[in-house]
Amino acid sequence: MDKKYSMIKMDKNKHIALIAHDNMKDDILEWAKENRDKLSKHFLYGTGTTAALISQALDLPIKAFKSGPLGGDQQIGARIAEGIIDFMIFFWDPLEAQPHDPDIKALLRIAALYDIPVATNRATADFLLSSQYMEEEYYRKILDFSKSIDARKSQFLKK
Ligand code: PGA
Repeated sequence: MDKKYSMIKMDKNKHIALIAHDNMKDDILEWAKENRDKLSKHFLYGTGTTAALISQALDLPIKAFKSGPLGGDQQIGARIAEGIIDFMIFFWDPLEAQPHDPDIKALLRIAALYDIPVATNRATADFLLSSQYMEEEYYRKILDFSKSIDARKSQFLKK
């Protein structure tokens, strides 16, 4: 398949989504406190409970969406698709099934499609946050579907 790509600029100040399942909330809180100075340089977002907990613990503003099981993951996925959120720390629970499992899968899929950095555990979060790219602009490479609606339309009109 002939793939076309677009380069999407990430500013120095990233737009970071923070999400943690219930069994992982202590972990993300501990990690966020350790990294408060670094996080404070960026724009923060989160699912309802995670955002409220981190905002209180760090005394930083965080845009809160709905709680994950009530659609918060989908709201964050939509912001990624819209190009608003460009970075995600998502401590999902590897040991317990979640009622909103399809939403989680959808969010991870959208994050991969839009080529945004995603940490799903503490070590990755540490590596990401200490990357030189946190201090610089960075260009993400995403599939360019701009011509695909016309191509798909003509494919169906031929039938
Ligand atoms: P919460 O949602 O931050 O509101 O707990 C997280 C999730 O379960 O996806």
